[in-house]
Amino acid sequence: MKKHNFSAGPCILPQEVMKKASEAVIDFEGMGLSLIEISHRSKEFIAVMEKAQSLALELLGLEGKGYKALFLQGGASTQFLNVAYNLLNTKAAYLNTGTWSSKAIKEAKLFGDIVEVASSKDANFNYIPKDYTIPGDADYFHLTSNNTIFGTQIKDFPETEVPVVADMSSDIFSRQLDFSKFGLIYAGAQKNMGPAGTVLVVIKEDILGKTQRAIPSMLDYKIHIEKESMFNTPPVFPVYVSMLTLQWLKDLGGIAAIEKRNEEKAALIYKEIDRNPLFKGFAAIEDRSVMNATFNLTDEALKGKFDAMAKEAGLSGINGHRSVGGYRASMYNALPLESVQALVDTMQQLEKEA
Ligand SMILES: *Cc1c(COP(=O)(O)O)cnc(C)c1O
Repeated sequence: MKKHNFSAGPCILPQEVMKKASEAVIDFEGMGLSLIEISHRSKEFIAVMEKAQSLALELLGLEGKGYKALFLQGGASTQFLNVAYNLLNTKAAYLNTGTWSSKAIKEAKLFGDIVEVASSKDANFNYIPKDYTIPGDADYFHLTSNNTIFGTQIKDFPETEVPVVADMSSDIFSRQLDFSKFGLIYAGAQKNMGPAGTVLVVIKEDILGKTQRAIPSMLDYKIHIEKESMFNTPPVFPVYVSMLTLQWLKDLGGIAAIEKRNEEKAALIYKEIDRNPLFKGFAAIEDRSVMNATFNLTDEALKGKFDAMAKEAGLSGINGHRSVGGYRASMYNALPLESVQALVDTMQQLEKEA
């Protein structure tokens, strides 16, 4: 039986993408060779890389606006230091909204002064701080747009003169935003785009070149831009699958279309969390994530029963992160509404039987 995949990451990808990807591993576009056994400098793979980059910029509405898209290695976690390495001269500002922001801050502190403009740590990161000031002399302002673990999401982005750097690992391509307000966006592929092994970095070129620091080639955005994401062997399979997912999204109607579906899914689960007396939401209502819904049982004694029912219903990956407990339903782009309905049905079944 095909399961309902609520995994937080690596996570669900479209079935048709999986099918095409598996075919390409055996025989890539009728070449009689596998995608993963041909040169990354072959014209066939260069076309894949170029397509992935242009689809990313097109979907974000950033074509012709001075941005470059790169597919690098090292995951979003390497971007925590890479951002600081390339952009931090003396001082940078960070908003601390959870585990991933905290990790980004820790890495950036190796490179200069870090001003934590606000933090929601006092409430185990169950909300997004709203009143804070971004120092005008900061080299950049860093935020995490969606907090995968705590289930909060930034809805209104601050207006500021300094370049905004966003870790969008878990909500990229899920909602419409004015992406041209960001100087740099990065996202590990494995949350909403492809398999683990590549990280998408979208950079406004004119924010680069402002630090005097000597930058090792593999960490230098300028070198990766110059070499068109082919400075060294790129992760060919994750880039190919990401390209297929982006094409799938484009064919579906782009971010506007998926945003509507994502909102329907989120509305369905949150309505049940708020209605069902056996459950309560973790995140502050106005900051609830459309991608990751976090919730707990009101009576922990029901855990064994609910877990058994969830297993029976084929619900996979709904256990909460250890730092929050309870449950987390991750509803990335490829998750169908029917899966959320199956979860809601199970919650209602528990209410009937408890
Ligand atoms: C998963 C995640 C990361 C870490 O990504 P890696 O690719 O594993 O390094 C960073 N930020 C956010 C918001 C995430 O959800």
